Amino acid sequence: MTQHIVVGAGASGCILARRLVDAGRQVLLIEAGEMHRHPSNVEDVEGFINLWNTRFDWALPTVRQKGLANRTITVNQGKIVGGSSAINAMMYVRCHSSDYEHLERRGGPRWSLDRTRRALSRIENYVDGPREGRFQSGLMEVRDCPDPASYSPEFQQSAAALGYAADDWDYNGPRQENGAGPLQFNIDGQGRRHSAFNAYLAEILDTPLLEVRHGCEALRIVLGPDGGATGVDVRNSQGEIETLRSEQEIILCGGALLTPLLLQRSGIGPTRTLEKAGVPPKVELPAVGEHLMDHLQLPVIYRLKKEIPNPRLLTGNVLFLNLNNNSPSGAPDLQLNFTPAAPRPLQRLLPPLGGPVMIFLPILVQPVSVGRVRLGAKQRVELDPHYLSHRKDVEVLIKAVEFCRQMVKQPGLEGLAGEPLLPEDADLEGYVRGNASTLWHPVGTCRLGSDPEESVVDSRLQVHGIANLHVADASVTPYATAGNNHVPTMVIAEMAAELLLSGD
Ligand SMILES: Cc1cc2nc3c(=O)[nH]c(=O)nc-3n(C[C@H](O)[C@H](O)[C@H](O)COP(=O)(O)OP(=O)(O)OC[C@H]3O[C@@H](n4cnc5c(N)ncnc54)[C@H](O)[C@@H]3O)c2cc1C
Repeated sequence: MTQHIVVGAGASGCILARRLVDAGRQVLLIEAGEMHRHPSNVEDVEGFINLWNTRFDWALPTVRQKGLANRTITVNQGKIVGGSSAINAMMYVRCHSSDYEHLERRGGPRWSLDRTRRALSRIENYVDGPREGRFQSGLMEVRDCPDPASYSPEFQQSAAALGYAADDWDYNGPRQENGAGPLQFNIDGQGRRHSAFNAYLAEILDTPLLEVRHGCEALRIVLGPDGGATGVDVRNSQGEIETLRSEQEIILCGGALLTPLLLQRSGIGPTRTLEKAGVPPKVELPAVGEHLMDHLQLPVIYRLKKEIPNPRLLTGNVLFLNLNNNSPSGAPDLQLNFTPAAPRPLQRLLPPLGGPVMIFLPILVQPVSVGRVRLGAKQRVELDPHYLSHRKDVEVLIKAVEFCRQMVKQPGLEGLAGEPLLPEDADLEGYVRGNASTLWHPVGTCRLGSDPEESVVDSRLQVHGIANLHVADASVTPYATAGNNHVPTMVIAEMAAELLLSGD
């Protein structure tokens, strides 16, 4: 029997395991995916797209989305030691102060801005610093866009012409919004991915305090006679079912789509959902799998007037701005990524475009639409994010396309941009609904809060009413963050470790 079981070796699971082991705790880390460290796929920053839609990806399909012109789309999620942190695009975005204020409001003093900031200081090592408000004390290497072909001075110039701060703007500094700068990446000095696995777990793999079982899928949480969690039923790498027991906490780090499903399979969730799925209900928690939010991306493509080198990274420039002006906190509702030419890793996935192109990638970062993930009949997964079910979300993406049209008319991009290729016609709403897709940032499905009617975990990240069962992954995040959510998820994991170890 081990002290702690951590379920899922992704961004949050690697951090939890590391911090518990550092404190002398014994940890069993279980991961459904394989240990795969093939440099051309995981560590080479051009290779990771080869892992999408393979056995290293849960590749979860949504149900038909009315708001997406009745399409179903696939939400990729890493199934590998390293999790989505091993197959993601490595953009390092701390997000907006209001994202951390949400945590404080819902979690109380345990989640004070001071504490989440200290958690961030344990993650971030910004090697291009020192710089105001940045940390060089953490375990994860972060640097400005390391690929010159991905960076575009013309994009900066156009943003400046429209009145935004530019010239090396640090969106991870004191202010995120209304500035354009090089994107920052968790990439190391040798140009390789610095995932949560590389940063946190790789160097402790040999310690006797840690056992990593990969190819081992958690099927159900086992509850003892007093209702507390005592173990996990798994299908191990030999295909056998066994029960793994823990003396202390079991911490779920399976990500925002799979953690709520694991809880539901264990009889923890909305009673009606469980009954319909044929799972005997054990603990009524209506919010398990609810309040799902996700970011959407939309390609806006222009012909390039001249050939320029194809970048190695998916994108290299960003402008955070507020198009609807509806956020009192000033948090941006749009993240505008830009790549001056088609990225090499994406080339085989792009439709034939008949020559060189530049690509804007507007991302809806303050969505209002809310969906859910749950077990349906016969325990089939029903993933229904309700994308673009709210009018405001469609409006932001339409305005985003119009904004790109302004950007290419400014000095800077004007010299590079030829005719528009996508969207080609005036039906912008049709284009948005027909082409928006996930940016793979689901959150909210086990959200933090004090009311068990509308949240799943309390301020110590313990599942309401179930001793020894905690959740510490992206599902805890109460609302979509104002940018890519790897960093906010890692902050949650650092906080979870601190709370567990301090007994606070
Ligand atoms: C394609 C893609 C691109 C992205 N790009 C970026 C980016 O550039 N920047 C950014 O900030 N964010 C990005 N993200 C998001 C970021 O990677 C996630 O926010 C983060 O990894 C979430 O961490 P997590 O620990 O909640 O889940 P994950 O990192 O997904 O880890 C969950 C782990 O748990 C395992 N697991 C799940 N269920 C079980 C079970 N029952 N038994 C055993 N193991 C289980 C999974 O296999 C997985 O390894 C991207 C995500 C994807 C998928």
